[in-house]
Amino acid sequence: MRRAGAERDPAVNGRDKLTLADIRPLAEEVGLPEIAATDASPFDDLARPLADYEARGRTGFEWANAAERMDPRFWLPEAKSILTAALPYLTAEGARRMREHPRSEIRGQTSCYVYGEDYHRVFSERLTALAQRIGELVGRDIRYRVAVDTSPLVDRRVAERSGLGWIGKNGMLFSPRYGSYVFLGALLIDVEIEDALHLPPAIGKHCGDCDLCMRACPTQSFVAPGELKATACLSYVTQMKGIIPRAYRKPLGRRVWGCDVCQQVCPLNRDRAHAEDPAFTPDAEAAYPDLVRLLEMSNRQFLRAYGRSAMAWRGVRTLQRNALVALGNLRLPEAVPHVARYLASDRPELRASAAWALGEIGGEDALRELHAALVGEQNADVRQEIEDAIANAASKMREGADERGTTGSGHVDRGDAGGGDVGGR
Ligand code: SF4
Repeated sequence: MRRAGAERDPAVNGRDKLTLADIRPLAEEVGLPEIAATDASPFDDLARPLADYEARGRTGFEWANAAERMDPRFWLPEAKSILTAALPYLTAEGARRMREHPRSEIRGQTSCYVYGEDYHRVFSERLTALAQRIGELVGRDIRYRVAVDTSPLVDRRVAERSGLGWIGKNGMLFSPRYGSYVFLGALLIDVEIEDALHLPPAIGKHCGDCDLCMRACPTQSFVAPGELKATACLSYVTQMKGIIPRAYRKPLGRRVWGCDVCQQVCPLNRDRAHAEDPAFTPDAEAAYPDLVRLLEMSNRQFLRAYGRSAMAWRGVRTLQRNALVALGNLRLPEAVPHVARYLASDRPELRASAAWALGEIGGEDALRELHAALVGEQNADVRQEIEDAIANAASKMREGADERGTTGSGHVDRGDAGGGDVGGR
């Protein structure tokens, strides 16, 4: 909990109740174009959805205690109101980059939310600045707390209850002006906002009969409108620790961070305004990471190249694991030496991913590297991955030989990275 305050403003001197009209100009000054407010009463209607979510399997990124997730006053005992904010991040240039991937190059793909600066820092600073100004407005120290992915609160539901937007069947909050390409944040304050709303949940109400996002999901992770099996969502898969389950490797395509499919297919995202926020000007290297360069990077080099992006928090090893899987999906023989180097990594998930990728790429060089690695591999899971990769590569060679025998052609189908076609959260 923090305090903010300053000199009294004569216009609101003595008032401890504000309206959104009082706050909106302050929010715009600090770079928050979209705000709304709800009261700080508990979110009792979340009991069932949170229990269902838990039953489907947690990712480990969530706040563990459901009761605390439902009660804003757990986060700030003095809270009277919650200001919610939507920060648009998809610039016109970002939208262009999302559409026009340079497919001819060995480059990965990321979700458009990591093209610019890390929103946690940008957004938290702006919400903190807003708290400061509200303190100045009411002329006292206010108690406040900022929430940008850091609080127990269910940000989308808080935003929906405040009237900031609506939740679609893809589970994202849609701002009427910017669509779902918005970050969500909240500011809990001990100041009453007279016109705060308390709207009931209405997931998918604006979607009508559409269910495009649910059908387009590369892993079919939606179990019902607005509800997904979080551990199957590719955005989670790119951030998880350990060996990526086999079922998700091909759907990843070129993706090394996040997936945007359920936003890209959505008709409600067409013709929405673009962000004009310099903080989210896309960085070309973050949008299409050079996969081989990523494999060659030290952690220090990685932080220099990607440290300003929200994908840096997991560190270089996670991105390298994802790059190995992406290279397996691209099936480019020239990647073999770069991938094979990881068969000697100290990390089992990197050795396993390299083995899988070599099995997908196939060819004599890949097979030779796999056989050599099998000799010294002690980890049972990685051994199994290598053996499976050898079988995969050998079968590809047999198929290639059969094909040449039939057609006389030396053609090798490199594929096009499967699920990378449609998009990268
Ligand atoms: Fe709703 Fe269709 Fe958009 Fe999904 S794709 S959020 S169902 S409008």
